[in-house]
Amino acid sequence: MATVEWRSPASEMAVRQFEIAAERLHLDKNVSARLKRPDRALIVSVPTRMNDGHVHVFTGYRVQHNDVLGPFKGGIRYHPDVNLGEVSALAMWMTWKCALAGLPLGGAKGGVACDPSKISRKELQEMTRRYTAEIINFIGPEMDVPAPDMGTNEQVMAWVMDTYSQHKGYAVPGVVTGKPVDIGGTQGRREATGRGVVYTIIEAAKHLGIDLPGRTAAVQGFGNVGSVAAKELAGVGVKVIAVSDRTGGFYDAKGLPIERVIDYVGKTSKNSTLEGCPWGEPVSNADLLELKCDILIPAALGMQITGGNAGKLKCKVLAEGANGPTTLEADEVLKEKGIFVVPDILANAGGVIVSYFEWVQDLQNFFWTEEEINKRLRDILTRAFYEVLDMSRKEKVDMRLAALMIGVNRVARAMLWRGLYA
Ligand code: NAD
Repeated sequence: MATVEWRSPASEMAVRQFEIAAERLHLDKNVSARLKRPDRALIVSVPTRMNDGHVHVFTGYRVQHNDVLGPFKGGIRYHPDVNLGEVSALAMWMTWKCALAGLPLGGAKGGVACDPSKISRKELQEMTRRYTAEIINFIGPEMDVPAPDMGTNEQVMAWVMDTYSQHKGYAVPGVVTGKPVDIGGTQGRREATGRGVVYTIIEAAKHLGIDLPGRTAAVQGFGNVGSVAAKELAGVGVKVIAVSDRTGGFYDAKGLPIERVIDYVGKTSKNSTLEGCPWGEPVSNADLLELKCDILIPAALGMQITGGNAGKLKCKVLAEGANGPTTLEADEVLKEKGIFVVPDILANAGGVIVSYFEWVQDLQNFFWTEEEINKRLRDILTRAFYEVLDMSRKEKVDMRLAALMIGVNRVARAMLWRGLYA
């Protein structure tokens, strides 16, 4: 991704993280050069008829980073800032994340540059169907299996599944994960990422000797990942003192009533945001990150914790629900401050782990209970957490580098076995 097409702050950060891990692993130079770039990157035009009759041409992307371990897997993001560089970085992180979790899947990501809060349901459906049609030759249960990410949800996945199935002439539930349960989705997928974040926090707390009940947490981003993580934390007795979304945040030192805040966003709020939340005092997104709390969860955009604000963080544990929320400069500061980081490719891997379960169930047409899903999710995440912790102790590196080293090494080993097709 050193080449200009993929260059962006996010892809430079992802490549640099990879280089640090590769140097530490003494990775084969040829393999290393290959892994810095995606296997394939698609840019597509997505013409969509808007409600006023004109046709707006959105730009869509699908980047497939590496499939040496199995079919590509990764979310679809709808956000105004989506661009080739960001999607490439997210695809690369998916490769390491799947490998770290031990899944037989590769890494990909997709997205459309758009603001889903400003387009109607009809426009969103038409844009989604056209985007799916544009990438249709590059996705499929054996090839590349998308999932929800920021700005997309189970409804969007249902439209992707339907569009793909209409083209094939028969139902293909295995083409996407994160679908509604009614059409081949799995129990527990919607909650999986936030729940997984909290499973890793529980293990981090055990490791650090922190008793969770009565401890405090702040959560940036109150969508799928942030709201579920907040609810699960409250469920283990943690006081969630602040939450925020794109409209700003709310803070109460005594703890916010999370279930009621979730209800407010889902049922009462006029635009499904925290705007006008009747509990707590307003707090900005920037100030939320600097609140004194035991656990901080960024669960929105990337690059929120930077060289500029890392020194002001007052948490003990930083659990990365979002992808790429912490820059390389910030990592150095956090290390000096002794903040324990549960890195994104570990903390938020719950989503892709349960997506993997969904894919397996779809391929077998045989479905598991939510108890089975949650137990298997917890087993995989707990095992991965201790593998990362062991690696960080053995190699005397931080948790992020340890996690990357495990993921990169698994992918590199598989590449060397498979060899170069010429
Ligand atoms: P979502 O669309 O459900 O929610 C995103 C939330 O972030 C919303 O509350 C939104 O208002 C808020 N937000 C947007 N811009 C913001 C800003 N500038 N400041 C503060 N908040 C802002 O998305 P999600 O699925 O919860 O994803 C959140 C993050 O978690 C992303 O980084 C995503 O890549 C990552 N992630 C998601 C999954 C998943 O399964 N959904 C899995 C792994 C990682």
